[in-house]
Amino acid sequence: MHQFSEGHLFIDGRYRTGRGAEARRIDPATGEPAETLRYGDARDVDDAVAAAARAFAGWSRRTPGERAEALHRLAAELDARAALLAGVETAQTGKSIRMSAEFDVPGTVDNAAFFAGAARQLQGLAAGEYGAGGTSMIRREAIGVIGSIAPWNYPLQMAGWKILPAVAAGNTIVLKPSELTPGTSLLFAEAAAAAGIPDGVINIVTGTGPEAGEALVTHPDVVMTSFTGSTGVGRRVMALAARTAKRVHLELGGKAPFLVFDDADVEAAAHGAVAGAIINGGQDCTAATRAYIQAPLFDAFTARVAELMDAVRVGDPADPDTDLGSLISHAHRDKVAGFVDRARTAGAKVLAGGEAPGGSLAGGAFYRPTLVTGVPQDAEIVQQEVFGPVLTALPFGSDDEGLALANDTAYGLAASAWTRSLDRSLRAAAEIEAGCVWINDHIPIVSEMPHGGYKASGFGKDMSAYSFEEYTNVKHVMMSRDPAAHKDWQDTVFRRR
Ligand code: NAD
Repeated sequence: MHQFSEGHLFIDGRYRTGRGAEARRIDPATGEPAETLRYGDARDVDDAVAAAARAFAGWSRRTPGERAEALHRLAAELDARAALLAGVETAQTGKSIRMSAEFDVPGTVDNAAFFAGAARQLQGLAAGEYGAGGTSMIRREAIGVIGSIAPWNYPLQMAGWKILPAVAAGNTIVLKPSELTPGTSLLFAEAAAAAGIPDGVINIVTGTGPEAGEALVTHPDVVMTSFTGSTGVGRRVMALAARTAKRVHLELGGKAPFLVFDDADVEAAAHGAVAGAIINGGQDCTAATRAYIQAPLFDAFTARVAELMDAVRVGDPADPDTDLGSLISHAHRDKVAGFVDRARTAGAKVLAGGEAPGGSLAGGAFYRPTLVTGVPQDAEIVQQEVFGPVLTALPFGSDDEGLALANDTAYGLAASAWTRSLDRSLRAAAEIEAGCVWINDHIPIVSEMPHGGYKASGFGKDMSAYSFEEYTNVKHVMMSRDPAAHKDWQDTVFRRR
């Protein structure tokens, strides 16, 4: 990626080269070597945190209106770079160009525009006399330098989800993108600089988790860690953050159920299942992974899903006709294939896919959309994150059983229920343990609504005004209007003499 010739770090308004290890990126779609990345290390994290700390006083004291204006300009700068951002996103991840151009880039521009508006709408209780003789008011304040860590699956959107609420609320930030996919986070920071967001407000340190990531989480001048990634690494991040008693926001793994009741529209559910399962190569924390189908519809649903999966065009990510590009890496593709192969060995039926395509795609990290049946609920492929274009399908009997199966994993990020019944819709919405429940759809997100997990999927919210709960301190200011030297409540402590 020629545009990063000055380095893969963006600190204090400038690109620079990291002082850590060097790594050759492999193009996931071909297996050929791509550019060489020079990672940042703990010294680079120190520099980035220092730049963010210097920028904090000025940025946090700007009026909400001034920050909003800068974020509106950022939305415009991102939009002006739409084709470049989409191309880099596809090159570094292997995802289809349609996904990058029609989902990732417009979603991020919309997020920037949303947070420009939301910056002027920080909410709190109205000032008032909640105790006798005193007026209380709430100040909602930026908290300082945020350290954020992002995964490789949606590099641009994750940069937006981390950076935008933090800086809209007046914080400054150091983001460590995944070491596999720094390109669009760097372009995001460059767009922010072009939008007039001051140097040091947004800094990007590309590096590995153990080196740059841990340096950021343990840094004494970073007040909060916002982490999106796997549950295993999230647990380690939380433990490391405890050393400096940092605030922590964790967006972790998912294993979304897809519950089809016997009154559902099978055709709509089958389309929803295929789109929900293979979106972004299934490398989506909210992807449909576990379909549970009420027994009368099981055969019709699985047959139609298999048919639709077989028709998906797997191919060159840069080709606009491609539906499904490559996965992030060959190692990850092999991990996905391992889950399917072990299930097959244990007696599962693979009704679609279950293999990597050959021919001109043999060199890339591709995997066909895959439907697996005949696995028990406690199988690893049902319980663990596969993070590939793989859907399992199991039948269920009563509504109670279906809902119990939907809740039967450690995760709780997202879920969907498919039914024409209002009662079943409301019951699924109430009883499924997940941060998002879709009814008769699966995947759509909007900037105005929160995203976040229950259970082992983490806590805290991205997007929406709810995200400001993570990125602000709420301060109570109480002003006494009681002129007495000895106030009545003080009698509890010492009586007036
Ligand atoms: P990962 O946990 O391996 O890595 C995530 C980030 O953490 C990367 O930047 C990595 O370099 C960094 N990291 C690794 N070890 C670290 C350490 N010891 N200290 C600090 N940082 C460290 O996850 P991944 O493979 O990049 O992404 C896939 C995972 O992300 C899946 O589990 C997926 O469900 C999850 N995810 C969750 C959400 C959500 O909103 N809940 C969104 C996207 C992805």
